[in-house]
Amino acid sequence: MSNSNLPTAIAVVGAGTMGNGIAQTFATCGVKTFMVDVKQEFLDRGLATVHKSLGKFVEKGSLTADVAERAKGLLTTTTDMGVMSQVDLCVEAVTENLEVKTKVFQAADATMKPEAILASNTSSISITVLGAKTKRADRVIGMHFMNPVPLMKLVEVIRGNDTSDATAQAVESWSKGLGKIPVLANDYPGFVANRILMPMINEACFALMEGVATREAIDEIMKLGMNHPMGPLTLADFIGLDVCVSILDVLKDGLGDDKYRACPLLRRLVAAGHLGRKTKKGFYDYSQAK
Ligand code: NAD
Repeated sequence: MSNSNLPTAIAVVGAGTMGNGIAQTFATCGVKTFMVDVKQEFLDRGLATVHKSLGKFVEKGSLTADVAERAKGLLTTTTDMGVMSQVDLCVEAVTENLEVKTKVFQAADATMKPEAILASNTSSISITVLGAKTKRADRVIGMHFMNPVPLMKLVEVIRGNDTSDATAQAVESWSKGLGKIPVLANDYPGFVANRILMPMINEACFALMEGVATREAIDEIMKLGMNHPMGPLTLADFIGLDVCVSILDVLKDGLGDDKYRACPLLRRLVAAGHLGRKTKKGFYDYSQAK
């Protein structure tokens, strides 16, 4: 049975780390979900991740096998943006790049029903800017899920300059329907989560570069001293070092303050292709990890 506090059908664009987690979350709650990406192999990888994750939830006993099977049945993958005509909500979760997101927003806007809502999972790109690229700025909003999406409760809901009250209310209500907790923020660079998180990660990186302490010591101090579940360097590897640099660049440009400049060591690791867990190497080496 589907929850009346949820849209009937949705599309998630981008089947990567966040996209497949968002798709899994909606499908688990009984929503017909399309997962869209540019290549079938990316969709296959995303779908495999969803199936593995659902299997773990069933193993742990936090989901019944029936619900997991129903979720698999509700989730369809496609490379065709034409499915946008069938949905009440599109959550864009493609690469953190304004040009890429603009193309997706314009394609979705051209096909979606007039009343449908277009949300972005962006970590830092302006919702106002994205809204202005469409003909539905009042129905454009930020729906910033946290990683890993099926486990994390927060949805940072970001209102662009022209987002309507009705759009904000619908997205808050749907987030609650997913069992999440929506918290409202306004549209300034990095919103709240990354405005505060990224300077901390960046400072940890400067501390490492300057030899203040080892990577393990920096992480341990923040875990034990601040009661953080994960140290900042471990967290950066989890988020993706390229994603961290992109967000810091948005903060620096958008707020016009050099204090947000990405640490040279962070940039060096990205240039070397060591992006964190997703490439099996970042601040730490994951080549032996399962
Ligand atoms: P990712 O690189 O894992 O996945 C991005 C996906 O988008 C890829 O599968 C790619 O093929 C696809 N894509 C690119 N262009 C596309 C297009 N034109 N049409 C369809 N699909 C396209 O990235 P991610 O980590 O999942 O991040 C996605 C978004 O979520 C970004 O905006 C990021 O800032 C945000 N975000 C990331 C995290 C995190 O921890 N990684 C947390 C919160 C928000």
